[in-house]
Amino acid sequence: MGLLSEGSPLSWEETKALADHVREHGVNQFINLYHRLKDRQGDILKWGDEVEYIIVKFDEEKKVARVALIAQDLLAQLNEKEIADPKGVKSLWRPEYGAYMIEGTPGKPFGGLMAHFNLVEANMRYRREEVTELLAKDECVMSITNFPRLGSPNFTYPLAQPRPEDPLSSARSLYFPDEAIFPGHPRFKTLTRNIRMRRGEKVSIKLKVFKDAKTKLPVEGAPPGEPDVVLLDAMGFGMGCCCLQLTFQACNITEARRLYDQLAPLCPIMLALTAASPIYRGYLTESDCRWNVISSSVDCRTEEERGLVPLEHQKFRIAKSRYDSIDSYLSPEGAKYNDVPITYDKQVYNRLVEGGIDHLLAQHVAHLFIRDTVSLFSEKVHQNDNEDTDHFENIQSTNWQTMRFKPPPPNSSIGWRVEFRPCEAQISDFENAAIVCFVVLLTRVILSYQLNFLTPISKVDENMQTAQKRDACRAEKFWFRKSSKTTEQRAAQAQAKGRAGHLNGWQSGEASENGNGTSTNGNGNGNGNEDAREEEHFNNGSSASLNGHGNGHGHGSKATTNGTTNGTTNGTTNGSSTTATNGVDSDHTDTDDEENELFQLLTINEIFNGKSDVFPGLVPLIRSYLQSMEVDTDTHCTIEQYLRFIEKRAAGELITTATWMRQQVLNHPDYKQDSVVTEGINYDMLKLIQGIQEGKHVEPALLGQGYHSKTKTKDFIPPALQKQLAKNGCCEDNDK
Ligand code: ADP
Ligand code: MG
Ligand code: MG
Ligand code: MG
Ligand code: MG
Repeated sequence: MGLLSEGSPLSWEETKALADHVREHGVNQFINLYHRLKDRQGDILKWGDEVEYIIVKFDEEKKVARVALIAQDLLAQLNEKEIADPKGVKSLWRPEYGAYMIEGTPGKPFGGLMAHFNLVEANMRYRREEVTELLAKDECVMSITNFPRLGSPNFTYPLAQPRPEDPLSSARSLYFPDEAIFPGHPRFKTLTRNIRMRRGEKVSIKLKVFKDAKTKLPVEGAPPGEPDVVLLDAMGFGMGCCCLQLTFQACNITEARRLYDQLAPLCPIMLALTAASPIYRGYLTESDCRWNVISSSVDCRTEEERGLVPLEHQKFRIAKSRYDSIDSYLSPEGAKYNDVPITYDKQVYNRLVEGGIDHLLAQHVAHLFIRDTVSLFSEKVHQNDNEDTDHFENIQSTNWQTMRFKPPPPNSSIGWRVEFRPCEAQISDFENAAIVCFVVLLTRVILSYQLNFLTPISKVDENMQTAQKRDACRAEKFWFRKSSKTTEQRAAQAQAKGRAGHLNGWQSGEASENGNGTSTNGNGNGNGNEDAREEEHFNNGSSASLNGHGNGHGHGSKATTNGTTNGTTNGTTNGSSTTATNGVDSDHTDTDDEENELFQLLTINEIFNGKSDVFPGLVPLIRSYLQSMEVDTDTHCTIEQYLRFIEKRAAGELITTATWMRQQVLNHPDYKQDSVVTEGINYDMLKLIQGIQEGKHVEPALLGQGYHSKTKTKDFIPPALQKQLAKNGCCEDNDK
């Protein structure tokens, strides 16, 4: 999202009346953009993170922490540099839902060089310092997923009270005042109001309280008959949470579809690993993650759509909120794992297919378009469908799913991208950087080794629920695809080929089963140096590249041919024979028995660190990939630290943020075994978090021993990173 332009939101009645207009033109816009961009080839790997932050204000005398409703002023200042020098800034700042939230990204995406892994943490640190400079002494920018007492009495600064009876209130919440919604752009309040209006009542978010020895039931505000439920009643409880997202550019649309699919089953796995939000409205709950909360917080489905009353005014029963995990795979290989009913309007689907879109993509877009627009601006109603994409983006950007398939924006040099959206925000830049670099590396390994993580959507859905359970990272098991022998063989072959110097994702053509480089992934000669020349922003002298530009071309055309052929063939067949209004793809070629044997329940430890004869482990796969790469010592050191951290957290040697937060509450002297996180407990925990993120407080259970300095922030930076910083000037060297 760029700097948000101001606009005049339509009323809900006006917006509702234009739902079909937005749908019709949005679909036309997608068809047009698809034909403009489907043959786009050879984009190089670019990627970047988004971190969301909460601004906290400490009252040091009273020992109270509150969210500071200052995002609008803060953003005005943060955006000054960008407005003056849009291309030169090291960070970009955007509004988020909360009046106490901001979102930061690097000034430009990172690229295909291994050495770029050295820049992520430094850039995150730069962002934090940039904000901190603008804050008062008692304020702090924190990358926490949820403010533990969000929605508890007096949780904002300045104080604001909810007005549930006020017809002019957007949220009408009992707990979350409108003042806590970002005031600087009408989008956020408009969405709040329209989602509530469309649904026909306030949103209802239910969490089981963590029942301790003296937990008082019913919990304050519990719904009738559900005494152990912490009830939240506003969009802000979910959209007011922070997360960590990543976007990757693929070399072409086929690779984007493939990455989208391969990463989808990893979403619940990464959610469990990054679990960081066990406390809501001042209560310890049974959940470790924000996902279901945010999903329910924007659930605009009517009672009919939710299946509570017979269908009368609406078109469909809809299984999920518009914020949820994805419902269908997009690549031909993924098609047979689309095992849940995919709701869509047959007319919209037909329009897409007649417009030349293959079955899988048409199904995906038609499914996105079962949603009505919930935010429309008068300036945007009438558009040129040959050039504009706003109506498409209107629906796309309010389908908040675990993965997002992002077409190139109009008139830009940006290619087809995929966004990975499940992760929770971590306390420290180190953790956030580790997760980001890990996922980026994983994408390279997937492409290079042609890994296959495809798991039936129904099982991915099940994993999403499992991932959020208390202590899931250590205690639960997840459906995971058994690695076929070929996975390991490919890995071994790829390594044996000794690909040092040819350092990109698609050399794997050589490592395919027949070893002749003509697999669907194609071949071609990636060349790190060529890539290095392209990457003017990050020219740090390394030739190690994650992506070969020349390769992108060779690979691309081959892959597109295959992709289009498969997609269209499957599509037409399925589209006409097996899909009705609620199309269920039933393209099963293997017998169910064979298929079922492919999937088994593994722990997070087994998924990341491996289980013999079953799966080599994500971390060992990455290590094996790295062995075939030319990696300079600094970069190797940075990546190793991240991998060691991930491997330990997955093994349970280090605990998740969620587990750590629970411990802080349970072991606090003021805690009364009643599940309540008081103002004092909240204050003390946030103070510790402040110390951790500044590198002043050591918390071995979270981060191990190695990463801290009690004294200076500077020492907190690993030596390898310090060298990089000196070279790239990414951060000011305050100590000199
Ligand atoms: P959104 O809010 O729509 O998800 P943002 O623009 O906030 O997206 O952030 C997307 C991320 O993608 C940023 O980290 C940005 O640096 C990165 N990015 C920008 N351009 C590209 C590109 N061409 N390919 C991949 N990532 C990109
Ligand atoms: Mg963003
Ligand atoms: Mg966003
Ligand atoms: Mg955001
Ligand atoms: Mg995003």
